[in-house]
Amino acid sequence: MNNLDAKIQEAATVLMNSKSNTAFTGAGISVESGIPPFRGKGGLWTKYNPEFIGIDYFFKDPEKSWTRIKDIFYDFLGKAKPNLAHQILAGMEQNNLLSAVITQNIDNMHQEAGSVVVHEFHGNSKYLVCTDCDARYSVREVDLSTLPPYCPKCDHLLKPDFIFFGEAIPREPYTASVDLAQTSEVFIVIGSTGEVMPACQIPVFAKSNGATIIEVNTEKSNFTDKVTDIFLQGKATEVMNSLGKALQIV
Ligand code: NAD
Ligand code: ZN
Repeated sequence: MNNLDAKIQEAATVLMNSKSNTAFTGAGISVESGIPPFRGKGGLWTKYNPEFIGIDYFFKDPEKSWTRIKDIFYDFLGKAKPNLAHQILAGMEQNNLLSAVITQNIDNMHQEAGSVVVHEFHGNSKYLVCTDCDARYSVREVDLSTLPPYCPKCDHLLKPDFIFFGEAIPREPYTASVDLAQTSEVFIVIGSTGEVMPACQIPVFAKSNGATIIEVNTEKSNFTDKVTDIFLQGKATEVMNSLGKALQIV
């Protein structure tokens, strides 16, 4: 048994012996679905200036902001499908090995893979919200052929229901995540640099409450030397597939 296999066995034992496990996911879990991360090699921000998803920019020039949003988030990323790592997390929930997923992602992949309890720290790009009456629409119901789109009910501007730069974290996922960090015995952190505040504080808070931290990442992150107990280095799909086998759910 090599070193990674031994660590995967150890992680599986920890997860099976724990009463409550939570997953915390970042952009890395969706890379193998074809969705690039924001930062680092191949990241979206190496190609685009992120100003178009700044909240002030959006209200100042909604047409320009929406044109770029549509290109990137709907035409390009809209076709992605969940991968094995998302599916294994859904399988863990079905087998009572996972209480919840906290995700920083906005791509809806966990729900499409079958996860039920998903707390979206930064919202979800598959929905649009009215900037006036708060009505929420699936993006499939809205015509994006003329931009920007307006609310069918009140005719005000629609915005993707994810957090733009300059916006606050929604209350529900924040309180639910803090609660999970206080109560979970194990946190499994997958594909996150741990650089995005305040989301990155959640695994640190879990650790300070006594949780064991299992981390899956191709590279070391801000978490690795600070809070991680078991570091499973590798691609999310490969590591999670091996973990799923060790947990006997695949
Ligand atoms: P990040 O983009 O800062 O970092 C990605 C992490 O994933 C890195 O640590 C990298 O080493 C790791 N990684 C890359 N490929 C991997 C693979 N195949 N398997 C395992 N790990 C892999 O991610 P972040 O910390 O989540 O922060 C980015 C922010 O941008 C988040 O707030 C998120 O909302 C947003 N974002 C979301 C999406 C999405 O919805 N899929 C995509 C890009 C960015
Ligand atoms: Zn409205």
